[in-house]
Amino acid sequence: MTTQQDLDSNVNEYTIESIQNFHGKYPKQLWYLFFSEMWERFCFYGMRGFLTVFMVERLLFEEASANLKYGAIQAFIYTMAFIGGLFADKILGFRKSIFWGGLLMITGSLILFIAPEKLFFIGISFSIVGTGFFKPNISTMVGALYKEGDVRRDAGFSLFYSGINMGALLGGVICFRIGDQFGWNYAFLSSAIAMMIGLSIFYFAKKHLGPLGLSPLRERFKSEKIKMKDLMVYAGSLLIIPFILLLVSNTDYTDMLMYIVGPAAFVYVIYEMKEYALAERKKLFAALLFCIFSILFWAFFEQSGGSLSLFARYNIKHELLGVNANPNEINNSANTLFVIIFAWIVGLIWVQLNKRKLEPNTVIKFGIGFLFLAGAFFVFYSTKFFADADGMTSLNVFTLAYFVITFGELCLSPIGLSLMTKLSPKPMWGVMMGIWFLASAYGQYVAGILGAGMASPNKEASLMEKLNLYTSGYQQLGWYALICGAVLIIISPLVKKLMQEVK
Ligand code: GLN
Repeated sequence: MTTQQDLDSNVNEYTIESIQNFHGKYPKQLWYLFFSEMWERFCFYGMRGFLTVFMVERLLFEEASANLKYGAIQAFIYTMAFIGGLFADKILGFRKSIFWGGLLMITGSLILFIAPEKLFFIGISFSIVGTGFFKPNISTMVGALYKEGDVRRDAGFSLFYSGINMGALLGGVICFRIGDQFGWNYAFLSSAIAMMIGLSIFYFAKKHLGPLGLSPLRERFKSEKIKMKDLMVYAGSLLIIPFILLLVSNTDYTDMLMYIVGPAAFVYVIYEMKEYALAERKKLFAALLFCIFSILFWAFFEQSGGSLSLFARYNIKHELLGVNANPNEINNSANTLFVIIFAWIVGLIWVQLNKRKLEPNTVIKFGIGFLFLAGAFFVFYSTKFFADADGMTSLNVFTLAYFVITFGELCLSPIGLSLMTKLSPKPMWGVMMGIWFLASAYGQYVAGILGAGMASPNKEASLMEKLNLYTSGYQQLGWYALICGAVLIIISPLVKKLMQEVK
C-alpha cells in the first residue's frame, strides 16, 4: 500500500533544515513564491481594477450598487482567506491549498471570459473561494522558509511584498488597457492566463520545497485516508460556491456576514488557544491585538479605492511635475510603484539596524506605520491649501501623500505577515494568516463607511465644498492615525511582554 511518505519521496532532496539554513539574504525558494504570488496578484488586482467599471458598463448596474457589490466582493475574498487558512492547517497543507485555490481562480476567470454577463456572479464566486485558498497560504509558505528567530524573515517578507505590488501594478494597468481596447472578456482572459503562469511557477517550485507545506495529516494517516479527506475539502469548497453566490449578489447579506464571521473567528482562536501553554497563548493574544490595529490601518488606507478616487476624479489637477497626468491613474498606481521601489530598501534597513542592535521591535514598527499613515493624511489634508478658486488642487501634493503612506504600509503590512508566522504555533499558522486577512476584510468594510461619511450628501455641491469636506475628513483620519500610533508606542512594553522572545 502506498503511503503519503512514498508519494513524497521525490521531495526529499531538500530537508526543512537544508532550506532554512540558507546562505545570503534570501532563500532561493523565496523567488518561486515571489513570482507565483506576483502572477496571482496580477490576476486579482487586474480584475479588481476594472470590476466596478465592468459592472456599470456591461451589467448596467447603478454606480452606487456597483460600489456596494465591489465592496462586498472584496470583503468576501478576504473573509474566505480565514477558511482557506483553516483547512490548510487541518487537512490539505499549504501546497495543496495553493494549487486548489489557483485552479479555482483560473476556473473563475475563464467562466468570466466565456460568459461575463450571464455567469458573472458564478465566476466571481469561484474567484473568491480560490483566492481564499491561495492568498493566505502562499504567505505562510514564505514564513516556513525561515527558522524560528531568523532575523532575515522580515526582509524576506518585504521582498515578497514587492512581488505582490509588481503583480498589482502590471495587472491593474494591463488588464484595464486590454479590456478597454478589446472588450472586457479579454481582460478576464488575461487574468486567467496570469493565474496559469503563477500556478505553473508554483508547480516547478515543488521540488525545491522539500517537505514544506505538505499535509499536516501525512504522519498520522495512510494516503488513502488523506485523499478522502482532501476530496471532502475540495467538494465542500465547491458546494459553498452557490451560497457565496447568493450572498455576493445580494449585498444586504454582507453586513450580516461581517457581524458573524469576525466574532466567530475570534471565538474559534480563543477555543484553539486552550490546547496551548500560557506562553503560546500570550503570543496568540498579541497576534490578535496586531490584527485589531490592522483593521484600523486598512480602514484608513483603503480610502484609496473609495473616497480618494472620487477626490482624485473631481478635485485634482491633471499635472504632475509639469507633465500632464491622470490623477486617477496616479491614485491607482503611485502606491504600488513606491512599494516596488522601496520595499526591499526598507527590508535591508531593518537588517542593517539589526546588525547595529538598533532595529525597533515590531510593536514600535506598527506604531511608526500609523505615524506615517497620519503624516500621509495630513498631506492629503494640506492639498486644501494648494487649491485654486475653483476647488482644484495639486497632483504633486496628492502624490507626495502616497509616497508617505507607502512607508506606513511597509512598516505594517509585510511585517504583519511575518509576525503571524512568528507568533503562532505551527499548527495554527494558516488560520492566523487567515485572521490577518480577515482584518483586511473588516478594514475594507469600515473604509466604505468612513468614505461614505465624507461624501457630500448634496449632489449639487460645488467643487470647493467637496474639497473642504474631503480634506477635513482626511484631517480627522490623520488625528485618529496619530492617536493609534501613539497608543501602540505607549503600550509597546506590555505587548512586548506578551510576545516574549519574538522581536
Ligand atoms: N496589498 C497587499 C496585498 O495585496 C495587502 C492586502 C491587504 O492585506 N489588505 O497582498
